Amino acid sequence: MNEHKINPSTLYIVATPIGNLGDISTRALAILSQVDIIACEDTRHTQKLLSAYTIKNKTLSMHDHNERQRQDYIAQLLQEGKSIALVSDAGTPLISDPGFHLVRHCRSLGLAVSPIPGACAAIAALSAAGLPTDRFSFEGFLPSKSTARQGALLALANETRTMVFYDAPRRAIDTIKDIVTTLGGERYVVIARELTKTFETIHSDNAENLLAWLEQDPNQLKGEMVLIIEGYKADVNDISSEVINTLKLLLAEMKPKKACAITAQIHGVKKNALYEFALSLKSER
Ligand code: SAM
Repeated sequence: MNEHKINPSTLYIVATPIGNLGDISTRALAILSQVDIIACEDTRHTQKLLSAYTIKNKTLSMHDHNERQRQDYIAQLLQEGKSIALVSDAGTPLISDPGFHLVRHCRSLGLAVSPIPGACAAIAALSAAGLPTDRFSFEGFLPSKSTARQGALLALANETRTMVFYDAPRRAIDTIKDIVTTLGGERYVVIARELTKTFETIHSDNAENLLAWLEQDPNQLKGEMVLIIEGYKADVNDISSEVINTLKLLLAEMKPKKACAITAQIHGVKKNALYEFALSLKSER
């Protein structure tokens, strides 16, 4: 493992497994063994991973509540030439996890920050969901209260990209009900639960059927979950012939993005809804 060179004065952002402890790279293990100190979201949690790989190294806690205080101390150690790893409880640090303030602080001081890539629940779920991944929108956690959650979902009603959320399975029924209310029962949704663990389940259906499936199996309300919602699909029948004519004329002269923006302005329609349709027109030619 020692063939992986480690640099002084460097903050390594190390991804760790999201369940299966085998999902860690040899480089990540080498970095965790060799750095001067490992900053952890929860030292006891990370200790289990370190013990599994017989890594004995110093740890320091750095979580949401002490990140601002810790950042000066960590930056000082880095300036003295120390190398430090940052890990979260699971997956990639900073992705809905602590570390943003520390990384920004280190970069503002000109200190090296180097990613050691690995597991991320959002990307793992997306890779197995069977929904478009060429463009997607990571939305993090949905609000826990229904009114705020419905508001957040409504704001995304015309989002044409695949949307990825983190959610707690115990809230899944309420969340799917809110999806039915705001985006409609026909919207296609994927639930990716307990990824890389014994009870890994990836289930997809339209929101209405998914709700029925969840309600009849309480086991699906346990563990950890990523929710993926298919992007809004513009229905040609919803676009008037007047709008289509304008769009076609403009598409002959300019790129789809600009054509959609101008058409949207002329006719007072949503440009996101037009974009997918414009691309389909373009590929028909
Ligand atoms: N930084 C992590 C990452 O890279 O995925 C995410 C941290 S966030 C605090 C934790 C959330 O990630 C969970 O509530 C769940 O939505 C999702 N998650 C983590 N592990 C998971 C797993 N094994 N299966 C499904 N979702 C998971």
